[in-house]
Amino acid sequence: MPQDRQTNRRIVLASRPHGAPTAADFREEAQHLPTPGQGQLLLRTVWLSLDPYMRGRMSDAPSYVPPLAINETICGGTVSIVEQSHHADFKSGDWVLSYSGWQDFALSDGSGLVKLSGPVLQHPSWALGMLGMPGFTAYMGLLDIGNPQPGETVVVAAATGAVGSLVGQIAKIKGCHVVGIAGGAAKCRYAEDVLGFDRCLDHRDPNFAQQLSRHCSEGIDVYFESVGGAVFNAVLPLMNTRGRIPVCGLIADYNRTAPSAGPDQLPLLQSAILRKRLRVQGFIITQDYGHRFDEFFRQMSQWVAQGRLQFREDIVDGLDNAPEAFIGMLEGKNFGKVVIRVAGDKPAP
Ligand code: NDP
Repeated sequence: MPQDRQTNRRIVLASRPHGAPTAADFREEAQHLPTPGQGQLLLRTVWLSLDPYMRGRMSDAPSYVPPLAINETICGGTVSIVEQSHHADFKSGDWVLSYSGWQDFALSDGSGLVKLSGPVLQHPSWALGMLGMPGFTAYMGLLDIGNPQPGETVVVAAATGAVGSLVGQIAKIKGCHVVGIAGGAAKCRYAEDVLGFDRCLDHRDPNFAQQLSRHCSEGIDVYFESVGGAVFNAVLPLMNTRGRIPVCGLIADYNRTAPSAGPDQLPLLQSAILRKRLRVQGFIITQDYGHRFDEFFRQMSQWVAQGRLQFREDIVDGLDNAPEAFIGMLEGKNFGKVVIRVAGDKPAP
């Protein structure tokens, strides 16, 4: 259903998923369009970002931010247009980066909004991808924690996704040997042919661990961790002395409801960290690096302008398709950064 000017559709958390989310965990509601008061703006969502961290917000396990409440609008970054403004700093028609969540419209008092201007307006959804949070995550996690040096081997998981595709390309810019890990032949081909990785291996292949060992013949200096699980088990024995592991995400575990079966890997991990003096560091981009966004944005914009970065988007049309796209992303069905095209950039009828 398209946007209209009378109603605000929103998708709320109907229940906390147990394991993988299902359609029943989401509910679409329609409300009267809110009217902005003095000092407020009405924002219309054009693009909505879907990101794996949203799965964490649906759970009430302890985390670095409070969970979503039941019946609360699902959170999410958006690129929005100012429809009405009673705020001195914004006018109708301005494009902004907002955190409006899974809904057509949102009221704002202007706090936290970033006005979009310059080249990003040629491709506004990039403010949610290459030039936004995922790009920032790739840039800081790889360069600040991974500290890759020319000639070193960098391995990156979820290699064709929003973060991973940029990690590998930045590592190539820094002169590294890059091995990606992705799900399926088409993704691996894309990583090699379009993203320019030296190799990309399919983690679903029964011989994945042997292949990884063969293609990292000089060991692994930096492993950018987004996945965990079986992929990490294959990577760990190959880490070089003084290797670095930026721990960005553990998506293989996000839907887990019980500890994995099999031997306890913790002693192995601790022993490898000690013997090889590995640096293993988790990071949360929004909490740890906010002060360096300008540095990232300047450098990334320059690489984009020079044509040195490719960025594939998996565009899904319609807010009502967000739950299915989100469920699919956690299963690896997306091919590129998932963005929902909630509406066109023309005003709602
Ligand atoms: P992606 O666009 O990469 O989409 C998720 C991908 O994860 C899937 O396409 C799939 O790729 C892969 N995947 C899912 N399940 C598994 C599995 N069991 N084993 C291996 N791969 C799997 O998402 P993002 O780029 O947005 O996010 C990537 C990671 O970065 C996530 O873990 C996310 O939580 C994390 N992140 C962390 C941030 C931070 O501040 N620490 C900020 C942003 C993201 P494939 O088919 O190739 O396996």
